[in-house]
Amino acid sequence: MSDLPAAFREHLKEHATISTLTERIVRRGDGGLTRKAVFSLPGNETVEAVLMVYPGRATVCVSSQAGCPMGCTFCATAKLGFRQDLSPGDIAHQVLWAQRELEKIPEDLDPQASRHRVNGPEDVPARLTNVVFMGMGEPFNNYENWRKSVDLLHDPDGFNFGARNFTVSTVGLVPGIQKLMDDPLQINLAISLHAADDSIRSDMMPVNRKYPIADLLDAVREYTAKTRRRVSFEYVLIDGKNDDLEEARKLADVLVSKGKFPMHVNLIPLNPVADTGMTRSSRQRVNEFRDYLESRGVPATVRIQRGVDIDAACGQLAGDVAKDLNAAS
Ligand code: SAH
Repeated sequence: MSDLPAAFREHLKEHATISTLTERIVRRGDGGLTRKAVFSLPGNETVEAVLMVYPGRATVCVSSQAGCPMGCTFCATAKLGFRQDLSPGDIAHQVLWAQRELEKIPEDLDPQASRHRVNGPEDVPARLTNVVFMGMGEPFNNYENWRKSVDLLHDPDGFNFGARNFTVSTVGLVPGIQKLMDDPLQINLAISLHAADDSIRSDMMPVNRKYPIADLLDAVREYTAKTRRRVSFEYVLIDGKNDDLEEARKLADVLVSKGKFPMHVNLIPLNPVADTGMTRSSRQRVNEFRDYLESRGVPATVRIQRGVDIDAACGQLAGDVAKDLNAAS
């Protein structure tokens, strides 16, 4: 900025910073259509973001905290514990990275991409179509910063991203759901439910002791009544833990017992995380679980898996720079 007085530049050098995250590593998977970036923060912490390209659409999954305080037993991020909140700029920065990364894809399209139905540059969108707050951390545990990042990205003078193209996922913090239902912006909501039985859910997710299933679902019903928007529930399927048909029955029961509301269940076969002793349900069990829900009138789909080979899939973001550096080189 040579148009500024030299003394002022010196002052800025000492007191101000512009960029937030520093890109350390970018790993590629799924024929280059899934890309995970590891960023470092000014201290020593790292966070990750994942870009996923599909025919005609591109989603970035961004982090809201370094580490996570929620302690879910099946998630790699939880193992780090809470490290620090991200600023609105840190969160928005990940979206800018994804947009720039997306722009590089048409020129270096990998032949393997056609396995994912991306056959040529014309299948790669020019702009990101979705931003999901489903990376490291709990967005509602860093509500103000998370919400300001949405404003930055939504601003016509900023990224100009449509409100309906954001999805925030929460572990089930009821106060956050209550705040969001009064928000004039139409941000989509996803809830990590993962069990319909309080003892199983508390075992998997300590947050359930504070906000048990009935309280959580009351808040969700109020949210859908107020906003008239459909919510989605994430349900990770873990072999022998929450995946038998009895659990599917309980899930259908809790979701329809007080009357139907607009919702959808996303089934996610557990992605591998070291030292959890847990494994994913078989393909057959996943299908049976889905079919049972559908038979009860609960719309359910199995989430398409991306990024498992590069530790970029749901629940695998561990900020393991050494491992990522090794794998990337
Ligand atoms: N803290 C928020 C945002 C994270 S979203 C939340 O809990 O919703 C990441 C999603 O991946 C959550 O639904 C989380 O429960 C799920 N997840 C965590 N570990 C996983 C694993 N090993 N396999 C599949 N999904 C996992």
